[in-house]
Formats: sequence, structure tokens, C-alpha cells
Amino acid sequence: MAFKTMADAQLKPQVDATAVENGQAQEIENLVIVGSGPAGYTAAIYAARANLSPLLITGFEDGGIPGGQLMTTTHVENFPGFPDGILGPDLMDRCKAQALRWGTRLLEADAEAIDFSQRPFRIKADGQTIQAQALILATGASANRLGLPHEERFWSRGISACAICDGATPQFRNEELAVVGGGDSACEEAVYLTKYGSHVHLIVRGDQLRASAAMADRVLANPAISVHWRSQVVDASGDDQWMNGLLLKDTGTQTIRELPVRGLFYAIGHTPNTRLFRDQLELNSAGYLVTQPGRPETSLEGVYAAGDVADAEWRQGITAAGSGCQAALAAERWLSHHNLAVTVRRDNVEPLEVGEPKPTVTSDAANFNQEALWQKGGFALRKLYHECSHPLLVVYTSPSCGPCHVLKPQLKRVLEELGGRAQGVEIDIEADQEIAVQAGVTGTPTVQLFFNKELQQQWKGVKQRSEFRQAIEALLPVAV
Ligand SMILES: Cc1cc2nc3c(=O)[nH]c(=O)nc-3n(C[C@H](O)[C@H](O)[C@H](O)COP(=O)(O)OP(=O)(O)OC[C@H]3O[C@@H](n4cnc5c(N)ncnc54)[C@H](O)[C@@H]3O)c2cc1C
Repeated sequence: MAFKTMADAQLKPQVDATAVENGQAQEIENLVIVGSGPAGYTAAIYAARANLSPLLITGFEDGGIPGGQLMTTTHVENFPGFPDGILGPDLMDRCKAQALRWGTRLLEADAEAIDFSQRPFRIKADGQTIQAQALILATGASANRLGLPHEERFWSRGISACAICDGATPQFRNEELAVVGGGDSACEEAVYLTKYGSHVHLIVRGDQLRASAAMADRVLANPAISVHWRSQVVDASGDDQWMNGLLLKDTGTQTIRELPVRGLFYAIGHTPNTRLFRDQLELNSAGYLVTQPGRPETSLEGVYAAGDVADAEWRQGITAAGSGCQAALAAERWLSHHNLAVTVRRDNVEPLEVGEPKPTVTSDAANFNQEALWQKGGFALRKLYHECSHPLLVVYTSPSCGPCHVLKPQLKRVLEELGGRAQGVEIDIEADQEIAVQAGVTGTPTVQLFFNKELQQQWKGVKQRSEFRQAIEALLPVAV
């Protein structure tokens, strides 16, 4: 690997001289971490504890969601420290809380471009250009799609890339569903979907599963799952409302047949999120970042890689976390060797403990509060729908939906910023199925904005906070 080193003279000191001359002194970050999966948050914990005050760009839509791939799974049974397992989104909430506790600063946005050609490096995100002496790239990998002719038409109307997020949707209940793929994710999703569907079809291109033996055995022994070997999905069909079937090609005989299912879940692997690094850092033929063997250094000095973005082989939460630790330690040594870091002084040597997260209590007649910014359940929805004089945000979630974990704090922040001029209700579609059916919810998270008992706008998936705020504010002159 060609490893570019820099003479000390090429490394700029902490304050950009040009900017100072122009009277716009701009701080230069010691270390920017890109990505908020286990690799990014672990790197952040180590760097923050080393008093580097790292800035972590969490990502938003590009290449996954904040928290990374574990936000799309249910039980993580193999991460040390949790003998009874832990839900993926809960694990990532804890990693985030730990990184914040030690002083990591978060920028909840995508890194849009990175210029590695000048030092400090320049990162464009959220309308700003951030300068950084060192970088840790932990952008992970993204779920692949099949690119079916009618994929867009039935996306979120039968086709999903996340069984864990969307499986509980009313339209999938007691219906025949399909999962495409033959690895661990596909098997896990097939088993998970048997909770909701009447039967699950696992569509496998080859004639064996690539999953671990234990996982494959679980699938093959499950009477609610049929495996379709040597089969390829070539298209989806349906009506205006929803997908109702697939066309399957036999990869041996090439014959096409129909499979009537109401859901298709993709579990066909991942592609490393390295678009921003192409032509600037060394990538291998599969697009993964190349690092020094067994080490986090990329082809450019001061730039480190951690997690799945540089790992086509192990791809686990714990290996990603381990490499995030390595990357932070290596970055810290490099910054101090070149005297580039300005470390912060900690007021609290022992920062306040975070404690256990407190779930929102479901409202009933006894604890309902007409003025509360955020409540949960059908009782609160009915009361506020009829009696609330403000815009009302209703967010439909399901218990293990990772994107819901991302969205809820964003919505709560919008409501806090609006200081009581709008209110919010959370509906768990598993607990309040009938409400979800009536509301026409086809996946989680879904957000509906009501005003004067009328639906004003609906969003599916995670969106920028500003979108919700603008939509609510547009109603406010009428509301006051
Ligand atoms: C369904 C499923 C189940 C799994 N189950 C397990 C399990 O039980 N145990 C286990 O150990 N592992 C499991 N894994 C694997 C594990 O999730 C990954 O190995 C791990 O999440 C990789 O961590 P990472 O930090 O490298 O990247 P990721 O988790 O992929 O996170 C990447 C991060 O980078 C961000 N990002 C991407 N592009 C940008 C950008 N342009 N700007 C800013 N940020 C960006 C994303 O938003 C995301 O936050 C599972 C994976 C899947 C898909």
C-alpha cells in the first residue's frame, strides 16, 4: 500500500492563519469522527477520554442511519457485557450516551464531501466547512437493493430493507411474506417475520444457506418458513395500494413463476460507504478502505479507518468497536507526536452518571396531561386529537425499530424549541394496532401532523428536524 507521510512543516498549527487575518478565526478540530455505529462511538469514547474533544458527524440518510446497522436489528446476543442480550437500538443508545458523557460533540448530519488534499482536512457537512487535523472514518456499510423494475413503486408499500423496522406493520399481519437472501441477516429476518406473517418464504439464489450453522438449522427446522432454492426475484407486482406478488426465476431452468406475497424484505448484503473517499484514499477492488495490515492507518497520514468500512471479513459490532478503539489511540498518538492537538481541561474529572433510560409511560385517564409536550398511547391521541388547539404530531413506532429511536429525540427537540405551541403523541403500532390500521400506517416510523382534526402532512422514515419544524410553523399563525 502506498502510505503518504507528511513532513511536520506541512502540518498546520491549530489556528488557520488566513482566517485570523480576515478576522474570522476558525477553530480547527483535533479529531473528527465520521459515522456513529459501534466503531465511531467507541473511537469517540476513547478520544473524548483523552481530552481531545472529538466532533462526531453522526450521518443522517447517506449510508445508513445514526447508530448504524445495529439500529436495524433486534437482539444482539454476542456483544460482551450483556449476558441476556440487548436490543441493537438500546446498545447504540448506550454507546451514544457514553460518548456524550465524556464530552464528544455530535453533528447530526451527513458528511457531504471531504477534501483530503489540504491540511487541516476540510469536511463539508450541514452547510459548514469543518477543518480537522485528524480523521477517523467509520462510515460502515449500507444494505443492498435488488433494483427490480417495480422496486420504487412498491417501496414501503410491500418492499422493505428492514424486517425489524417494518415487520409489525398492519399490512403484513397474517399475510404471506418473503425474504430474499441466504446469509445470517436473511435467516434472522425470516425467523423474526414468522411473528407477524402467516408464512415466510426465504428466497435463496444458490442451493445452500451462507448463514452460521445454528442460524441455518433454526430456519430449516421452522415449519412457518419455506426455502425456495435456486430462485431469483425478477420483479414485484400489485395494485395501486400494495404489492401482492413476486415473479421468481428458477436459476437452473430459467422458468418464471409467481409467488403471491404481501411483503418482500431485502437481506442481500452490504456495500461499504466509501463514496466520499474514492480517488483520494486507497480502496480495494470491493470498495473497502485499505489500511495497514492489522492497523487503522489508511493510505494517508492522519486518516484512520474503523469498522465495517475497512472490514469485508469480520463485520461484527465488537470488531467494529475494537477497531474504533485502535483508531482513536493511533490518532491520539499521532496528534501528540506532531504536537497538533489542543486538549481540553475537564471541569468534572468524573462526569455525571447517565443512569438508565426512562421509557415514556402510556397515558391513561389518571396521568393524562393536557399540556404535556410528549405523551404516549391511544388515550392521549384521542384526547389531544379532539381537544388540542395546537398542531399535533403523531409518531407511529414499533418497539425494536431503530430509526424510531433516531427520530423520537429529534421530534421532542422540535416540540421543545416550539415551547408548547405544538404537542406530540407516540403510538406503538404493536400495542395500538387498530389505530395504526385506521391511520393507514404502512411502516415505522411514520409521522402525521394534524391541525384542527385534519391531517396536514405525513412523513415516512427519518427526516431532518427542520422539515417538521417548518411544517408546524407554517400552521402556527393560524393556531395562535
Ligand atoms: C440485521 C443485522 C444484524 C446484525 N446483528 C449483529 C449482531 O447480533 N452482533 C454483531 O456483533 N453484529 C451484528 N451485525 C453487524 C454489525 O451491525 C456491524 O458489523 C456493525 O454495526 C459495524 O459497525 P460500524 O460502526 O463499522 O458501521 P455501521 O454500524 O454501518 O455504522 C456506520 C455509520 O456511518 C454513518 N455514515 C455513513 N455515511 C456517512 C456520511 N456520509 N456522513 C456521516 N456518517 C455517515 C451511518 O449513518 C452510520 O451511523 C448485524 C448487522 C445487521 C445488518
